[in-house]
Amino acid sequence: MKRQSIIILGGGTAGWMSANLLHHAFHAKGFDITLIESPEINIIGVGEGSTPHLKQFFNTLGLAESDWMPRCHATYKNGIQFNHWSSAKGYSAYFHPFPSMPDRQTAAGFLINSMLRRQGHDVDPRPDRYFLSAYLAKQKLSPKTQTGFPISINYGYHFDSALLGEFLKELAVEKGVNHVAAKITEVERHLSGDIDALVSENGQRYQANWFIDCSGFSGVLLQKTLGVTFHDFSANLFNDAAIALPSEASLPTSVQTISTALSNGWSWEIPLTHRTGNGYVYSSRYQSSDAAETELREKLGLLDADVPAKHLKMRVGQVAQHWYKNCLAVGLSQGFIEPLEATALHLVQDTLENFIGAFEAGKFSQQHQAEFNQRISARFEGIRDYIVCHYKVNNRTDTQYWMDNRNNPHISDQLQQILACWDAGGDVTALLDGLGISQFYPAVSWHCLLSGYGRFPPIGATSAATHEVNLEQIQHYIKTWAKGFIPHNTALAK
Ligand SMILES: Cc1cc2nc3c(=O)[nH]c(=O)nc-3n(C[C@H](O)[C@H](O)[C@H](O)COP(=O)(O)OP(=O)(O)OC[C@H]3O[C@@H](n4cnc5c(N)ncnc54)[C@H](O)[C@@H]3O)c2cc1C
Repeated sequence: MKRQSIIILGGGTAGWMSANLLHHAFHAKGFDITLIESPEINIIGVGEGSTPHLKQFFNTLGLAESDWMPRCHATYKNGIQFNHWSSAKGYSAYFHPFPSMPDRQTAAGFLINSMLRRQGHDVDPRPDRYFLSAYLAKQKLSPKTQTGFPISINYGYHFDSALLGEFLKELAVEKGVNHVAAKITEVERHLSGDIDALVSENGQRYQANWFIDCSGFSGVLLQKTLGVTFHDFSANLFNDAAIALPSEASLPTSVQTISTALSNGWSWEIPLTHRTGNGYVYSSRYQSSDAAETELREKLGLLDADVPAKHLKMRVGQVAQHWYKNCLAVGLSQGFIEPLEATALHLVQDTLENFIGAFEAGKFSQQHQAEFNQRISARFEGIRDYIVCHYKVNNRTDTQYWMDNRNNPHISDQLQQILACWDAGGDVTALLDGLGISQFYPAVSWHCLLSGYGRFPPIGATSAATHEVNLEQIQHYIKTWAKGFIPHNTALAK
């Protein structure tokens, strides 16, 4: 077969993840891969939390945790703790777990109690009582077990994004990906409209058969060159700015991301081995950047500290087609949903994995493009709706921002159906399956979110609850299993 070539434009996390996965999938099939990045245009340099799916990325590349985690000051992540998103009594914090096989039975108890509570029974539906990863996070236990313990669970990671990029760059270059430092100023196209070549500012021409646009928010190839439109999500999600501000690492190292609701957005706290990553995601329509920085500094006790803050603008939404002509957009150039559930790299991975599958199935042609685009768009919308739900069901009254979010009429039909079904005491699991969206967030995650916020009617059922769940027994199981898990810092040292 004639050798084909792929050019990736952009050397952020998306670019280097693409380089590694595409090289892994296609090098032996006759593809040469080149990554071009501009030394003058910085990467975004944030994005330090993952979902459990990232483990699969490293497994595909044949990398052990000991190969990359120490290099990136990485830590384990059992889930996300949401503080102060709800002002319902008893629900000021909830933990979004990564459910695993051992949770199957306890999750069944959670789903029953959450249903009974929706019917007005006086039972405890708070998710952190029912999931192993929530207990491990509280105890600062890692998701790793002692040798020979017969249980394994899902978990994510926290990492220094700049160091992860460096690591992935070294790996890709070592394997044979060509790396070019050049700023692209012009794009040449065939008569068919396909991209033919990228031209750098010093006139060098880089020709290829396929192009991967990883140029970040600037969307150089898919949006600016090929003219693919961008579907804006700002009516659904108000946040459009962020501030990042590091602080010292704390010991023992936490095993969870913490998301705390602030006056006009929320702050993240991500534990790494050498520092804590902090930030504030907010809406510039409601708060100025100066006021947001002051609020974040006050929260962190860094009001007078000489630590510079990094201010960022965010564009939320997705492109109308992620793969158009001979160009695939991956990362911020294909779209972005605010980082509340740390899903951006998950979407990068998903896009690449689906592209590789569709591209191979069509014998490296555009045969499966439409189906691929439909699948990736649905993923973006599924994740968007889950994130929007956090805002829609908040019951804070302290600022206009939170009240406007709650009263926002711009929510999808699917989300409206989910909320109506929940409020009517209906079968949310069956609804999600019927809508075909439980693959984005499973039913248990929707129940955790809605129960965790305390979205329930007043207690008032007169009849006794049927299917009484023995919460004490559930907690006993969880504590017994937890004995097999090792402390986070011991796991990191290993
Ligand atoms: C506040 C915030 C928090 C986030 N938190 C998370 C998180 O917790 N988890 C998560 O998964 N994701 C998170 N993300 C998203 C994550 O940061 C990005 O998805 C990830 O970093 C990938 O970015 P990128 O590679 O697409 O773009 P970038 O990092 O912006 O890279 C763009 C690249 O394109 C190159 N480039 C651009 N134009 C040209 C040109 N003309 N010529 C040559 N090169 C060019 C640049 O040099 C650069 O190398 C967050 C994002 C934000 C804004």
